[in-house]
Amino acid sequence: MKNLLGGKGANLAEMCKLGMPVPAGFTITTDTCVEFYKNNLQFPAELKKEVDEALLKAEAVMNMKFGDKEAPLLISCRSGARSSMPGMMETVLNIGLCADTIPGLIKKTGNPRFVYDAYRRLIMMYSDVVMEKSEGVEPEEGKGIRVQLDKMLHEVKVKKGYKSDTDLSEEDLKNLCDAFKGRVVEVLGKPFPDNAYEQLWGGISAVFKSWNGKRAISYRRIENIPDEWGTAVTVQAMVFGNMGDNSATGVAFSRNPATGENKFYGEWLVNAQGEDVVAGIRTPNPLNESTKNDQNKHLVSLETGMPVVYKELDNIQKGLEKHFRDMQDIEFTIQDGKLWMLQCRTGKRTGLAALNMAMDMLHENLIDEKTAVMRVAPVQLDELLHPILDPKSEQKASLVARGLPAGPGGAVGKIALTSEKAMEYNKLHIKNILVREETNPEDVEGMRAANGILTARGGMTSHAALVARGWGKCCIVGCEGIKINIAKGEVVIDGKTYKEGDVISLNGSKGWVYENAIKMIDATENPRFQEFMKIVDNHRTMGVRTNADTPEDAQNAINFGAQGIGLFRIEHMFYGKNSEAPLAKLRNMILANNTEERIIALNELEPYIREAAKGTLKVMDGKPLTFRLMDPPLHEFVPQTEEKQRELAKEKGMAFEEIKHRIDALHEVNPMMGLRGVRLGIVYPEITETQFRALFEATAELLKEGFHPQLEIMVPLTISVKELKHQKVICDKVHQEVEKKFGVKVDYLYGTMIEIPRATLVADEIAEVAEFFSFGTNDLTQMTFGFSRDDVNAIVNTYVSEKIIPADPFNTLDQHGVGQLVNLGIQLGRTSRPKLKVGVCGEHGGDPASIEFFYKAGMNYVSCSPFRVPVARLAAAQAAIKNAKCDCGCC
Ligand code: ADP
Ligand code: MG
Ligand code: MG
Repeated sequence: MKNLLGGKGANLAEMCKLGMPVPAGFTITTDTCVEFYKNNLQFPAELKKEVDEALLKAEAVMNMKFGDKEAPLLISCRSGARSSMPGMMETVLNIGLCADTIPGLIKKTGNPRFVYDAYRRLIMMYSDVVMEKSEGVEPEEGKGIRVQLDKMLHEVKVKKGYKSDTDLSEEDLKNLCDAFKGRVVEVLGKPFPDNAYEQLWGGISAVFKSWNGKRAISYRRIENIPDEWGTAVTVQAMVFGNMGDNSATGVAFSRNPATGENKFYGEWLVNAQGEDVVAGIRTPNPLNESTKNDQNKHLVSLETGMPVVYKELDNIQKGLEKHFRDMQDIEFTIQDGKLWMLQCRTGKRTGLAALNMAMDMLHENLIDEKTAVMRVAPVQLDELLHPILDPKSEQKASLVARGLPAGPGGAVGKIALTSEKAMEYNKLHIKNILVREETNPEDVEGMRAANGILTARGGMTSHAALVARGWGKCCIVGCEGIKINIAKGEVVIDGKTYKEGDVISLNGSKGWVYENAIKMIDATENPRFQEFMKIVDNHRTMGVRTNADTPEDAQNAINFGAQGIGLFRIEHMFYGKNSEAPLAKLRNMILANNTEERIIALNELEPYIREAAKGTLKVMDGKPLTFRLMDPPLHEFVPQTEEKQRELAKEKGMAFEEIKHRIDALHEVNPMMGLRGVRLGIVYPEITETQFRALFEATAELLKEGFHPQLEIMVPLTISVKELKHQKVICDKVHQEVEKKFGVKVDYLYGTMIEIPRATLVADEIAEVAEFFSFGTNDLTQMTFGFSRDDVNAIVNTYVSEKIIPADPFNTLDQHGVGQLVNLGIQLGRTSRPKLKVGVCGEHGGDPASIEFFYKAGMNYVSCSPFRVPVARLAAAQAAIKNAKCDCGCC
């Protein structure tokens, strides 16, 4: 249903079926929107008749008629996509008010102030959404019709000394409507339509067009929502929260969306209409006791203000949760004491809330284990493991302002006062906090680029809060202590002036703002998280290993639940800390004149390899550890600048020219496709011999010390089984020698990486010798696309924006192309070795979408960096649940 009716339309229909009070209406399908775009923005021929018929039914239920002089029905045209895009498309309210219908509605309601309030809202929304945005008019900054009308409204308020919109009198509003209409003609060059039907069709078309509005497009990019879906339009009878003090409008969540706490949570405003709560025009009232905070605790709650309506709403909210078995985000309006439901949808939540809700609902028997596992998105888990402000440093820091805790965790960064600035910082990898007056959906890209968001206005249900929460971004809203001056590029917090670029820190879980940078720490060790991960592992069938090259990383990965190491890079010891000694030996080997010199250097290098291997094997006791033989091109390990080369020459007591000559000889035009990987071992067999000896001796020593090392030796860059056989002869020889020397039996596996397209094509032959395959999907992607990994970024970005490829293939596996090679390689490999163990050790091993693909391809494990391990465990469990055969026996 959602695919056709959009989330909003489908759920309104569902609430109707459950007997809940929903204003009558109908939904035009997303298919119609798709057709509308195909037909060059023309409505399909049969639509008009169908809308007329549906409208008749709604009129009958509401006992009013659209465009009628006596009892005029007003309607809203509401957008709704398959997957919720909060605030990213348009909705027009109060459609149907015109010279013909205004007197009738005044007479019928006896409330002229209300009618002119609705009319001024209609003019404001309609001229903005239908006459300007949907026509593609792009006014200069601050010159849009909406801003101009807002300014006019504001001026009246100032002139009359009003504090709030609700102070405006009938007379004020009536005059404003006339002034508005004048301004609309002036700015947009055509009059505001004075005909109910013209307004209706203008509204429908504008909602369709809002699917391709700027905000909607940006949001779809970020959320990976396909451009082809289109939006539905729900046409619905209006109910009014702006009819006086017995009317109201509100937004609520069946549980707290920031923490997950099982308490009804929300905000409401008396005498207001829909957007008012979300737009942060007035500070909204708390729904109940548990929603009270610093900003709103003095305001009356719905629970005490309208106890009967509150009770009904509370019952409905409970009913909805039971029905949908998930946290609901609901919108409601109270017209003259009567409650109307206007929307419900699965509520967006932070990672912390997702975890807490999944575990609570499991314990409440609302959902089963599998559903609980599916409820936390892998990226949310990532967010849970993200840093918070270090509580100790926070205590000492100076608190400068407080707002509402809209998105959890901590953030430290430079103040950015515009979205553009936030994006600019982000491009330069500079941590930044987007500081804005109010929450504005036009800012999505800036919000995305920011590390944290801070706004002066808006409540917990404001757009910024909603969107930030969806992304698990640290966010504070409604922070009234800050005053922004964009023109001067500064913000005043608690009387002190900060410039754009000054550093502040946010605690999004408390809503507290600090000056300067505060230390951040990881938010691990959460018992709820441990409990959840245990359930995750119950449903996971594919193994998760890690890529680690040091005992510390290995230990870290074990703490995160890694079951082995899928990639240990031997060359790691030549980089960074403590690398001087082994690197010097390696350079001797590289710069050796002949085999003899090389063997001498290798013998000196061997103990370093042995110790590195031993240290990590010990930490991994009982768990498999895959060592990859030396892989990179040798020139990476020798200095490239003359200055450094001279230093090296001095160190080695050699002539500079001699050093330079030897280094130049290593030069290759395409080093990625040159002398590296197994090719090194074929050209210089003594290099692999040394590595085999170091690995076997480390293993033998550990066996004698009572450990349980599980050695797996992996040959990189293989293209032919003959390479593996060539190296295996050396391996067998060394293995025998070491077993004899130590008097122990050393078990190990001998396998290979599959990372060159040719290897996947002859995988059956390779598997005759290889006992396991590990797909190196970075190189496989590089060689299959012919994209040089290290310098292809600009091309890939253009290709993605031109939609030539759907995503960066180095981040998420190209299932369509590279995926075929992976499937083929596994299939062929298992024809000659049915039990062949298969894993992946590229970057893709930590990407949830790729992990699902690897699961379906029949891999035994994925391997990823230590911090991705929990994400990979969850993604693997979700893949198993999603792709499980049902128990019905039919499939
Ligand atoms: P969004 O997708 O941005 O949430 P909606 O279509 O939900 O947009 O409309 C925004 C708000 O407008 C709603 O929350 C509701 O308060 C108000 N609204 C929409 N339709 C009606 C209606 N038929 N009667 C009264 N208020 C409405
Ligand atoms: Mg809504
Ligand atoms: Mg590789």
